[in-house]
Amino acid sequence: MDKEFSVDSEGLHQAVELMSRDFSSAHGLDLPVELPQLGIGSTAALNSLAPNILGGAARLGEATSFAHMDPPTPWITWAVTLWNASLNQNLLHPATAPVARQMEQRVVAWLAPFFGMNGGHMTPGSTVANLTALWSARECAGITEVIASEGAHLSIAKAAHILGLNFRSVPVDANGSMDAAQLPINLSKSALVLTAGATSTGAVDPFVLAGRAAWTHVDAAWAGPLLLSKYAHLLAGIESADSVAVSTHKWLFQPKESALVLFKDTEKAHAAVSFGGAYLATPNIGVLGSHGATATALLAMLLSWGRQGVAQRIEHCMDLSHCLRDFVVADKRLELYGEPQTGIVVWRPKDESLFDQVLQQLPVGSTSTTSIAGRKWFRSVAANPSADIDRLIATIQVALPERT
Ligand SMILES: *Cc1c(COP(=O)(O)O)cnc(C)c1O
Repeated sequence: MDKEFSVDSEGLHQAVELMSRDFSSAHGLDLPVELPQLGIGSTAALNSLAPNILGGAARLGEATSFAHMDPPTPWITWAVTLWNASLNQNLLHPATAPVARQMEQRVVAWLAPFFGMNGGHMTPGSTVANLTALWSARECAGITEVIASEGAHLSIAKAAHILGLNFRSVPVDANGSMDAAQLPINLSKSALVLTAGATSTGAVDPFVLAGRAAWTHVDAAWAGPLLLSKYAHLLAGIESADSVAVSTHKWLFQPKESALVLFKDTEKAHAAVSFGGAYLATPNIGVLGSHGATATALLAMLLSWGRQGVAQRIEHCMDLSHCLRDFVVADKRLELYGEPQTGIVVWRPKDESLFDQVLQQLPVGSTSTTSIAGRKWFRSVAANPSADIDRLIATIQVALPERT
């Protein structure tokens, strides 16, 4: 037995111990330029990589981390991910994932009803989930074009391009939601994509439009998990969609890559995107070939926290975004883009010439920037339940010039 393939408790303890060390002073990549002829051994490799991998990473759970849709992840997902890496199951074939396939089915069965869907499968992100859903739309509903708002994620146009479908974009209103009045009248050959939580602004498209086209797809990559919380009403109408995409590695706190594509009629949708193979016991569903047991980390977190534990953390993130919104509105030097709908606050100094100066003074990872209709904005994203909003507001106040 080659020891490198078995549980090395000491080595793994060492790996965990390194996680709590402070490597903040480490800088620069210290790696051999060429593939080494002789290895240094696993313990030495871990020690040598720790300052780079652990010290060099963006800290998504830090008190001032409030910039992107990437959340910190709970430790139970790290533990299960370690198990997954050691077991290396392949969900493509039941023989190589007897239990993991059932785990994925169970986690999908737990979550799909919140979205008004009856099933689906996991993908490595909503980019692939959107592609899979629009592929099903093309096969099941004979659509020839994809319509989405100007605020839709680039993966929608990308999917249309890959699928050979025409892509049409519809203007947004002052809050960043699709302007329903500008939608074409005839949608009988269209897949209508409604976004729940636009990437730039967090805006939700009008869900009264769901069901009006030959196929309705909801891109709920960001805001989908609100359906497990007291904010579920913000996405009312989603149940009239034919398919939904959710990035579980965003607001469901999962390690990447983890997402869901869900369908109203899963049997039909899956059949439309399945291929058989002589060596496969079951048809290969969707875009992926070999794929891993991502679902087990999600299942473990849901078992640990329950729906309430998820809701509590998302609701806390929403509270943080509301505090920031209130601060922006109260401070005469600042301007709010629109009312934050799903935990994303878009704001800027009223004096445009201060933008870059303020940006430079904000802590790294506290704010991202976006451009809407040619204007630059700061974008604060409430993906981090551990964010300290008072501290964050204090850093903005320091970055702003004195009131005049
Ligand atoms: C992040 C995002 C996507 C893409 O999802 P990935 O998980 O990054 O592939 C699609 N749509 C929206 C609205 C997003 O915010």
